[in-house]
Amino acid sequence: MSYSQTLNQPRLLTEVESKELLTQWGIPVVEAKLARTKKEAISLSKEMGFPVVLKISSPDIVHKSDAGGVKLGLVNATQVGKAYTEIMSSIKEKYPQAQIQGVSVQKMAPAGIEVIIGMSKDPQFGPVLMFGLGGVLVEVLKDVSFRIVPLTRRDASEMIKEIKGYPVLQGYRGKEPANITALEELIVKVSEFVEQNPQIKELDLNPIFAYKDKAIAVDARVVLEG
Ligand code: ADP
Ligand code: MG
Repeated sequence: MSYSQTLNQPRLLTEVESKELLTQWGIPVVEAKLARTKKEAISLSKEMGFPVVLKISSPDIVHKSDAGGVKLGLVNATQVGKAYTEIMSSIKEKYPQAQIQGVSVQKMAPAGIEVIIGMSKDPQFGPVLMFGLGGVLVEVLKDVSFRIVPLTRRDASEMIKEIKGYPVLQGYRGKEPANITALEELIVKVSEFVEQNPQIKELDLNPIFAYKDKAIAVDARVVLEG
């Protein structure tokens, strides 16, 4: 039995499971499919079309890239096969006890502005949404904004504008701006999703790629209450 299955413990959904759930609620994600073998990973890649991304799929691994479990920009079957082998050997070394389902296969998304949306539960206020820019801005500078669920469209608009990094979303040095309307809609959808699913303990869309015309989550993590 894996330690994720201990009774009354919060349950971490894998990226594939999390994205399936989010898709049902109309939240845009890069679709991820589970491959249980190297052969399956290669055939799924061919079906989806290159370039693809491979990621470790395990209910016991929260940070996939720290574990050597993410391989980006794979352009052919040979690279997919090699990436599968490398992921498995890295995981065996770093997480020898983890229950491994296989790898998730997904399309490599074009670069966009990285943002994050998170939800955690405050003992007093209940579900609270967080918004920020991805990467170093959230990790080092903690440039994030918070609102209590449920959020209105106006709340979403305000929480986007109040982060210090807002000018980045408006486009800078010739870079394309992010679609703010799409981000507002996404935040409101996530608010509705967590409001109507009290069994969700935590949620992380990290990162979301924001483009000129849309915003889409490339990674997703849902934790259910125990
Ligand atoms: P984790 O957060 O568990 O380490 P992620 O799924 O977030 O793993 O992947 C790590 C990084 O790889 C992301 O922050 C993102 O920059 C990049 N990435 C992940 N999935 C994709 C994708 N489908 N297309 C493009 N880049 C991706
Ligand atoms: Mg991530």
